[in-house]
Amino acid sequence: MDLLSIDSLTDEQIDGLLETADLFTRRGGGSTRYAGRIVFNLFYENSTRTLMSFAAAAARLGAVPLTLPVEQSSIKKGETLADTARTLNAMGPDALVMRHGEDGSVAEVAQLMDCPVLNAGDGTNEHPTQALLDALTLRQHFGRIEGLTVAICGDIRHSRVARSNRKLLERLGATVRLAGPPPLLPDDLPGGGAIDEAVRGADAVMMLRIQRERLAEELGDSPGEYLASYGLTVERLAQAAPHAVVLHPGPMNRGVEIADEIADHPRSLILRQVANGVAMRMAVLDLLLSA
Ligand code: ASP
Repeated sequence: MDLLSIDSLTDEQIDGLLETADLFTRRGGGSTRYAGRIVFNLFYENSTRTLMSFAAAAARLGAVPLTLPVEQSSIKKGETLADTARTLNAMGPDALVMRHGEDGSVAEVAQLMDCPVLNAGDGTNEHPTQALLDALTLRQHFGRIEGLTVAICGDIRHSRVARSNRKLLERLGATVRLAGPPPLLPDDLPGGGAIDEAVRGADAVMMLRIQRERLAEELGDSPGEYLASYGLTVERLAQAAPHAVVLHPGPMNRGVEIADEIADHPRSLILRQVANGVAMRMAVLDLLLSA
């Protein structure tokens, strides 16, 4: 089994992952269950949280995480992605965790691998484990997901996080509102609107970074302008439900999409998301390694 998209999972598997990851967050410690197994990490795009939490998750399950330093690899000598995949496959890893800038590239590699492949982000397409850890964070905080209203705000057009979250949260019974600057709202995700409307009365506000590395042209915003028009400020958060919480997948750009005070606000669950990332990736690796 591969985890390429939220669509790769049945409702039962999603429930099981949320339960197992929740147990991992409460139990702490590690296990030797997967001693002797090897998990390859192949990351063509930068990462702090996803890479380290997959490595930590594998280690906590007793498996050995091995990360290819892409910058020093034969990719730099002109090897194709398919040849790199066949090469890694010949070494017999037990799982491959992959991030790449092209939509669909992880699915293509999965066709060539004999082991489970986990999508750690493919272009603007999907980032399923981010959505799963976000759902875990919301469920732990509110005790449920069904009936919640979640505003996802920012660069929706380029966000694999928004795409996977929308799929998962709607499957779990939440209402998702999308908002952002008009050029950053995609045509294939209708219903996007203005941030003030999206945030009003919401139970949770998830802020997204502008993916400047994927923009053909700069937005042309002056310092502070984006925050004032589209960012999460203290005044905007006050329009959400009184109990509203703040999420962000990271990396944050303080003072751009999120005000400093909000990043460190008592209602920010951002570091809880990071901690839950290890637990959720342990649950996901457990599901795939045991299949
Ligand atoms: N870390 C997330 C991702 O890889 C979000 C971001 O980079 O803005 O998609």
